Amino acid sequence: MAIEDTQWDVAIVGGGAAGLATAIFAARAAPRLRVVILDGATKLGAKILVSGGGRCNVTNVRVTPADYWGGSRNIIKKILAALSVEDTIAFFRELNVPLHEEPTGKLFPDSNSARTVLDALLREATSRNVRIITDHRVTTIHALNGPRFGFEVVTAAETISAGCVVLATGGLSFPKTGSDGGGYELARQLGHTLCSTTPGLDPLLLDGNFHTALSGLTQEVELTIRVDGESPQHLRGSLLWTHFGVSGPAAMNTSRVWNRARLDKRPVIVTANLFPDDDFATLEKRLLDLGAEHPKSQVATVLAMLLPARQADAVLAALSLRPTTQMSQFPRDDRRRLINALLAWPMPIRGTRGYAYAEVTAGGVPLTEINPATMESRVCPGLYLVGEILDVDGRIGGFNFQWAWSGGYVAGKALAARHAQRGI
Ligand SMILES: Cc1cc2nc3c(=O)[nH]c(=O)nc-3n(C[C@H](O)[C@H](O)[C@H](O)COP(=O)(O)OP(=O)(O)OC[C@H]3O[C@@H](n4cnc5c(N)ncnc54)[C@H](O)[C@@H]3O)c2cc1C
Repeated sequence: MAIEDTQWDVAIVGGGAAGLATAIFAARAAPRLRVVILDGATKLGAKILVSGGGRCNVTNVRVTPADYWGGSRNIIKKILAALSVEDTIAFFRELNVPLHEEPTGKLFPDSNSARTVLDALLREATSRNVRIITDHRVTTIHALNGPRFGFEVVTAAETISAGCVVLATGGLSFPKTGSDGGGYELARQLGHTLCSTTPGLDPLLLDGNFHTALSGLTQEVELTIRVDGESPQHLRGSLLWTHFGVSGPAAMNTSRVWNRARLDKRPVIVTANLFPDDDFATLEKRLLDLGAEHPKSQVATVLAMLLPARQADAVLAALSLRPTTQMSQFPRDDRRRLINALLAWPMPIRGTRGYAYAEVTAGGVPLTEINPATMESRVCPGLYLVGEILDVDGRIGGFNFQWAWSGGYVAGKALAARHAQRGI
């Protein structure tokens, strides 16, 4: 598709969640603003469509800076406050996408379809005269100085001029959706630095074969991550055992911390409490009570009253405890060793699955290099950065989209205000 006009007020590079939000909020606030979105993909919104298992977890009922890693929490707080969760719910209601809350606090569209979210955003953008150009991957951006202040945005097919440019290219996660890290290079060309990137929200690869016997099993756990020199972090949530290791929210949230520790070459140890509501005393009492009720039963049978049977077997085998021992004969030291292991099961992490499976990228353009009141670059005036390209990544639960919507709102408003000053 050729671009019929080569002069734009705003060129947005990347039409994912953050780019679409920026375009919509800019066009709403300044209807005469000429806004173009350039995207390298053949169709927009691939990542929105796969999000939340195809249902798109749009946001969370409670979003705080503590739900994010990366840059300064104060800066994150300012940006999130500009478009709160309530504002986001209202925004989607205006787009005819009512949201509902699920027990974990996640908000999904009532349709339970990510397609509804994407279609509504595209409809709103096009109805506000935002021009969307797909199949146009931006390779270079030149910042112009002097009388032709603005930017030249170069794609393989053509070059356009824009007064302002928004980098909304995402990071490196799920590159088949179009975000292949090329945006970082564009940011670098324009003078930005980068915090090293690592996959975030990524399944964990485990050594050994404990996990293989449990493949398909889901359970609530509390993972404790001990990074050398830091206080331990405790992440509670659902854990899914798989043929390669573990996935599910608890594992994926852990991947971020694990990868950053390894990036800094710091030793990191992760253990799983398989009974997150118990401590040693309560779990021992539960085992003793069961033993008193079933003195002739085998340890494996009684443990299977507390854990799925195949996990009970795998635990006893890993600890070299005889599964056939009767409860009345189960030595105290073995019982205590078993309880300690259940409360701090070692997770022999050898890596994470990588960007191809990661839901988000940790690292990126430092928040100190943007003005949080506008999302404008502090090193390249007229350039704005939004979404995952920045050094912010949220935990699982709708936080990453909220970051995209809020940043897009701030940038959109700022772009409209900037052009209003010029009488557009
Ligand atoms: C499987 C999966 C499930 C997820 N589920 C959820 C969820 O339910 N809730 C949640 O909050 N978060 C979820 N996330 C994270 C969330 O999708 C991202 O944080 C968010 O989409 C980032 O938005 P973005 O606009 O910054 O980047 P992206 O969505 O990655 O969009 C970037 C766009 O820029 C384009 N682009 C890149 N480089 C160029 C270039 N050089 N020129 C032109 N175009 C370019 C790409 O084609 C792409 O369209 C999920 C992620 C994945 C991978």
